[in-house]
Amino acid sequence: MKAQPTASHFIDGAYVEDAAGDLIEVIYPATGEVIAVLHAATPALIDRALASATRAQADWATWRPVDRARILRRAADLIRDRNPDLARLETLDTGKPLQETLVADWPSGADAIEYFAGLAPTVVGETIPLGRDFVYTLREPLGVCVGIGAWNYPSQIACWKSAPALALGNAMVFKPSEVTPLGALKLAEIYIEAGLPAGLFNVVQGRGPVGAALATDARVAKVSLTGSVPTGRKVYAAAAAGVRHVTMELGGKSPLIVFDDASVEDAVGAAMLGNFYSTGQVCSNGTRVFVQKGIKDRFLASLRARSEKIVLGDPLDEATQMGPLVSAVQLDKVMGYIEGAKAEGARLITGGARGPANDGYFVQPTVFADVTDAMTLAREEVFGPVMAVLDFEDEAEVIARANDTEFGLAAGVFTADLARAHRVVGQLQAGTTWINAYNLTPVEAPFGGVKQSGVGRENGHAAVEHYTQVKSVYVGMGPVDAPY
Ligand code: NAD
Repeated sequence: MKAQPTASHFIDGAYVEDAAGDLIEVIYPATGEVIAVLHAATPALIDRALASATRAQADWATWRPVDRARILRRAADLIRDRNPDLARLETLDTGKPLQETLVADWPSGADAIEYFAGLAPTVVGETIPLGRDFVYTLREPLGVCVGIGAWNYPSQIACWKSAPALALGNAMVFKPSEVTPLGALKLAEIYIEAGLPAGLFNVVQGRGPVGAALATDARVAKVSLTGSVPTGRKVYAAAAAGVRHVTMELGGKSPLIVFDDASVEDAVGAAMLGNFYSTGQVCSNGTRVFVQKGIKDRFLASLRARSEKIVLGDPLDEATQMGPLVSAVQLDKVMGYIEGAKAEGARLITGGARGPANDGYFVQPTVFADVTDAMTLAREEVFGPVMAVLDFEDEAEVIARANDTEFGLAAGVFTADLARAHRVVGQLQAGTTWINAYNLTPVEAPFGGVKQSGVGRENGHAAVEHYTQVKSVYVGMGPVDAPY
């Protein structure tokens, strides 16, 4: 199986190669097979990407928003037309099953492009009366924005970052994760085909140092990262040195709280979606499932039965519900957490082993019960299909325990008592929350974290704040009253 792109990078409207860059092997996680070999960007290519973005952005900023929007809408249509091929490539790049990539990855990217195309022409300033004089405000683009992606939703991330950036008059240089570098190149091709001027969306490949070189370049106005908390700290600090804008979409250890009046089957379904979708490699996953004691046994019995029916295997078979983890590194990490949880005394309910194919990075959907707050499994982000079930007695206790973490990305509450649902959600320290649902992230809703889970928001009207800046224009309408 091969998925070799035309070249490693896409700069100023064309594919570009520089064989002097470090090798990056792209591996299909279901078999361990190398499907493409790329090169990391050299300093000369990073410079070309930023130079062409700077040049292109100066003109793009002068376009009417409706004219920009027309191009983006065309790009969204092209993505939808090509979704089957794009989904297959996403499956090869990530190992996620076609059953998911056909409906979740590029489709949600197309939604974002369409949404921000529609929103951009409505973004206006305000007029502030001051008696004789007045102030009006302009919402201006930031300039050249850098996007740095994680490997779990590579194409969705490229779309979620580039859509508001481009719609609002910025350029973007995007560095995909070195683990999943293929989708962003297709997005660059599609934007050009839709009519986007060359240079406005450039893709450069590379590991951390390429991201760091982008984040510290004087031409860059903003850095938007999706990644882990440790990387976020580094990138945020690097951006701060140049007083650059940032959006940080980082990790989590989110609580999903199930009260004893909830529909147990709905809560079980949500807990499974919030731990097993994308083989558990979702930042907002509800990986600490707090279940009120009265329903614990029923909850665990149903969870076990339903988890054991999950179809794990060949991601290219549309009947497959769960694929492998993204890499051998991630497999080792997840197996380490599973062994650690057993050693720390958590009770294994189901899963806990590798499978089904030894040459792929597969792990069974795994559930541990009797997890306590102090266990590593309850404190650290696993990023794999490993659910921790914890017990609780009452509302005040569970809120305090849910908030007792450095993370604050997401949280969920299941209960039939809606007053309680709103009361609890109001006290949970998280940027994105759900009531009687989990992990739904439509483009219309702002998404992001509090505490160590991030800064800024993607999607929704909120993203406009993060890809524009306000200029105040004071207009003097009479003589200048100088005391000199
Ligand atoms: P990671 O932090 O290892 O890497 C993220 C990106 O940062 C990669 O492209 C990497 O090359 C780059 N990078 C690494 N060091 C850098 C540096 N010093 N300067 C600039 N760039 C650097 O994350 P990952 O393993 O690819 O992804 C998994 C993590 O991402 C998890 O923690 C997950 O929770 C998080 N995530 C968050 C969201 C969100 O929206 N909040 C979404 C998806 C994933």
